[in-house]
Amino acid sequence: MIADNIAVLKKTIARTARDFGQAEEICLIAVSKQQDEAKIAEALIAGQRVFGENRVQEAEERWTSRRDAYSDLELHLIGPLQTNKVRDAVALFDVIETIDREKLADTVRAEYDRQNKTPVCFIQVNTGAEDQKAGVSLAGLPALLEHCRAIGLRIEGLMSIPPVDEPAGLHFALLKKIAAEHGLAKLSMGMSGDFEKAIALGATHVRLGTAVFGARNLKVAQ
Ligand SMILES: *Cc1c(COP(=O)(O)O)cnc(C)c1O
Repeated sequence: MIADNIAVLKKTIARTARDFGQAEEICLIAVSKQQDEAKIAEALIAGQRVFGENRVQEAEERWTSRRDAYSDLELHLIGPLQTNKVRDAVALFDVIETIDREKLADTVRAEYDRQNKTPVCFIQVNTGAEDQKAGVSLAGLPALLEHCRAIGLRIEGLMSIPPVDEPAGLHFALLKKIAAEHGLAKLSMGMSGDFEKAIALGATHVRLGTAVFGARNLKVAQ
């Protein structure tokens, strides 16, 4: 069942990219937070290797033991990161999508040196200027990017989560525009409910949870 979901989603992703002239290959991040172990095992058997998690500790419980068995695993942190969790996050994740302030950038950079890992980072942008949401403000982005460049933390792209009560397309288009202005190639945007629109507007990464696995089980690792 998970294998079927993934196969159908991959076809839809490829077709949407073609229809909208987005030639590039689009990365399906299977968001495994709060999903049952059996479903994750199914996804792995189906060949899925890119997974997203929003909490460091939950991700450790789920993935640390699997890293050895799947050397080609690619884990993305897509939730807010506290500086006291950076050491664990750097040890586990291949991509940190949620850099959103200078202190966090500094801490991640130092930890990459300490653990001798190559940074792959995105900056999360709070395009809807929502108080409760993580992400740097639109106004704060240029300075944060400059800071990251100055300290040698390579930023490959931007990530955002549009406000639920606004048309997502406006936010996707805005994120694409500011990424282009700053010469950033990668865009993590689009979730189960709006990934086709995100692809039409230039997403290179889509983060799909319920579309891959079904409804989340709130009792898992919470
Ligand atoms: C949970 C989550 C997703 C997946 O959401 P679905 O609607 O289940 O696809 C995507 N992005 C982030 C940042 C998330 O926290």
